[in-house]
Amino acid sequence: MDDALIISRGLARRYNVGKTVVAALSGIDLAIPRGEFAALVGPSGSGKSTLLNLIGGLDRPSGGEICVDGLSLGSATEPQLVRHRRARVGFIFQSFNLLPTLTALENVESPMVLAEVSRSERLARAAGLLESVGLAQRISHKPNELSGGEKQRVAIARALANRPSLLLADEPTGNLDSKTGSAVLDLLCNLVRQNGLTLVMVTHDPEVASRADRIFHLRDGSVQHVDNRRKPEAPA
Ligand code: ADP
Ligand code: MG
Repeated sequence: MDDALIISRGLARRYNVGKTVVAALSGIDLAIPRGEFAALVGPSGSGKSTLLNLIGGLDRPSGGEICVDGLSLGSATEPQLVRHRRARVGFIFQSFNLLPTLTALENVESPMVLAEVSRSERLARAAGLLESVGLAQRISHKPNELSGGEKQRVAIARALANRPSLLLADEPTGNLDSKTGSAVLDLLCNLVRQNGLTLVMVTHDPEVASRADRIFHLRDGSVQHVDNRRKPEAPA
């Protein structure tokens, strides 16, 4: 899988806490092909969020290597890392992380402001994205005027604003009831397939993980095993 979108070798992240060193990740080797839905599962504290943040360029490794689309994030310059976060990656969080004073439309526009997209293009794209997540009637609502499921749909639209190739989601259904969560998951899976995106999702929920093409089971900062759930290709 040399052409995988995400490749890590010996990836490590250590935190200094007082005089002790916490190894959040130690020696992660993995490869995630383009266009796949990969799930990261494991007990609390096993390093799932740390791994997701390293893939997203929100954090830097303490050792080993993590490459996304050919860019080695450990040795990338700060501007390269900013460009990676802004142009290549869309983030979705458990607690939505919408800006409370902005409308749904303005929340979806906000990453495009940073990417210096023109105002007319921003408005057109944000409205189109909100429509694609089923919220055409909610564009002027503020987050506190939206349900949890609607907030997460806005967050998904926002994650897609700069047309990323990679979506990273940290327990995106964790704050939703199971029916709403499964509708949000359906939406996410459909958008990912339609747009040929790669999705890496942290989840506690075995049912959510069962939708993935590949499941990485983490424990104590290592990959314990990998389930490849893609059906083997039919012989020619
Ligand atoms: P998960 O998302 O699987 O619950 P995390 O990636 O958040 O796990 O954390 C992995 C380990 O690293 C945990 O032991 C956690 O306490 C530790 N950790 C995470 N972030 C920090 C930090 N900023 N400082 C110190 N320790 C941290
Ligand atoms: Mg976590």
